[in-house]
Amino acid sequence: MTSPQHILEHVFGYADFRGPQRQVIDTLMAGSDALVLMPTGGGKSLCYQIPALARPGCGVVISPLIALMQDQVEALQAAGVRAAFLNSSLPFHEARDIESALLAGDLDLLYLAPERLLQPRTLELLGQATLSLFAIDEAHCVSQWGHDFRADYLYLNCLHERFPAIPRIALTATADGRTRGEIARRLDLESAEHFVSSFDRPNIQYRIAQKNNPRRQLLQFLKDEQQGNAGIVYCLSRSKVESTADWLCQQGFKALPYHAGLPAEVRADHQRRFLREDGVIVVATIAFGMGIDKPDVRFVAHLDLPKSVEAYYQETGRAGRDGEPSTALLLYGLEDVVKLGQMAAMSEGSEEHKRAERNRLNAMLGLCEITSCRRRALLRYFAEELGEDCGNCDTCLEPPQTWDGTQAAAKLLSCVYRTGQRFGAAHVIDVLRGSENEKVRKFNHDQVSTYGIGKELSANEWRGVVRQLVVRDYLEVEGEFQGLRLTQACRPLLRGEESIQLRKLPAQTRGAGAEPRRGAPPAEILPADEPLWEALRACRKRIADEQGVPPYVVFHDA
Ligand code: ADP
Ligand code: MG
Repeated sequence: MTSPQHILEHVFGYADFRGPQRQVIDTLMAGSDALVLMPTGGGKSLCYQIPALARPGCGVVISPLIALMQDQVEALQAAGVRAAFLNSSLPFHEARDIESALLAGDLDLLYLAPERLLQPRTLELLGQATLSLFAIDEAHCVSQWGHDFRADYLYLNCLHERFPAIPRIALTATADGRTRGEIARRLDLESAEHFVSSFDRPNIQYRIAQKNNPRRQLLQFLKDEQQGNAGIVYCLSRSKVESTADWLCQQGFKALPYHAGLPAEVRADHQRRFLREDGVIVVATIAFGMGIDKPDVRFVAHLDLPKSVEAYYQETGRAGRDGEPSTALLLYGLEDVVKLGQMAAMSEGSEEHKRAERNRLNAMLGLCEITSCRRRALLRYFAEELGEDCGNCDTCLEPPQTWDGTQAAAKLLSCVYRTGQRFGAAHVIDVLRGSENEKVRKFNHDQVSTYGIGKELSANEWRGVVRQLVVRDYLEVEGEFQGLRLTQACRPLLRGEESIQLRKLPAQTRGAGAEPRRGAPPAEILPADEPLWEALRACRKRIADEQGVPPYVVFHDA
């Protein structure tokens, strides 16, 4: 039997094990089970490939995607490993040959999709073969609340019953504490050895910016920082993927769309070009990326808010696997929150499922709103404490500026009160700014004491104040017309017993020499502002109501 170290050097060509690889391998060599949580690019594959080679028999790898299996098998064969996969894409006779090779002991690694493994015929076949281990890759697919859920993964616990003597290893890059528990429980790995690596990716610079003109923001980022680099741009919808890819091409970038609605050949071709050519930008939905091993992805940009922190972490984790400096840029508009909230509400599934989905969205929103170190917040989500602020995220590099908004807040709250607590923000702002429009006159609101007392701020700045007061629960948004209402939390502020620091809007922060806005509409978030308040207020409330939300979710500038 060849030693793991020997295999590492002579088959894979590496000198040393990385992180916990050695311990994981030892665990399997000793015949025990393992659950491995390691970030994307951490080197999970060797954790099962090496013991599969070192132990007698064939290692069975369960992997969710056919494309992923093909890549891995090709790479292994190129390294001289006797590897194969069985899936529906194979002609019958080829499948037969592989089955014979397995029974003859001529295979080191066999990759299977879960649905294939679970077929009685396959289970029977495996029962006749000598097996070294079972590896369940991308094990988070067993989590019903994750976006990669695969029903077949739920039945993989049968492996333990059917093959009690064969060690099992489950691996994932995605797992907060709860998902981890779920994986262990569902795959019957509670008594397995758990290996949890640091999820920190110090070479990735995290940035989350308010979306005001996403295309211009993206273009500026690409031109200023990413000329000629490979990267991924994530969008929520297929149509946005296509239009964004087209537009990037017009701007002179090598951009290719990728989403589940494209023909399989096109997807495969775009993936291949991304892997092989230099400087390709893939514009994609979340359908793109699982298992893609391209070391020099220099940036991952999100033009829409990811559904959860796990999704964000996993998607951004595709940048910088080579350890070189890389950037994760997320542009988020509060309309994203509304959109995702609506999607969650309309999605099929139990109330519990919807609640879990909302919780995840809330946590993601918390990460966007936070004004302290993003990496700390991100890692805390994975139950990991960072000793000090990272110095390599936007909030560390450029701490968000704040201003004393006590007076503005008091004016706004008073105006909401004076106008009867039933009007939406647009109207209240009109009154504050002394607008002479029809609605103001109709309700005699040019007569209230707060009329015209807020001319010092622009309407957009007032909207920022409203937004932050809603997020902090000073204001509620009520009913069909999204009327603003005071909450109990206002009292100390209105009595002058409390001051409030508000975050400066990008427009307020922008210095004199900065790019003028040239009459462009102030922000794309405008039309969505109304439902937005509703959503934010609801988020905030749910966070207070529900447990199990990561502790860093604070919607105020800490
Ligand atoms: P994961 O599945 O955790 O995302 P992979 O197993 O695909 O990661 O490995 C990511 C990259 O790291 C691969 O290019 C792999 O060859 C490389 N790698 C893994 N282990 C080592 C090691 N011990 N030394 C050097 N490179 C390694
Ligand atoms: Mg992997």
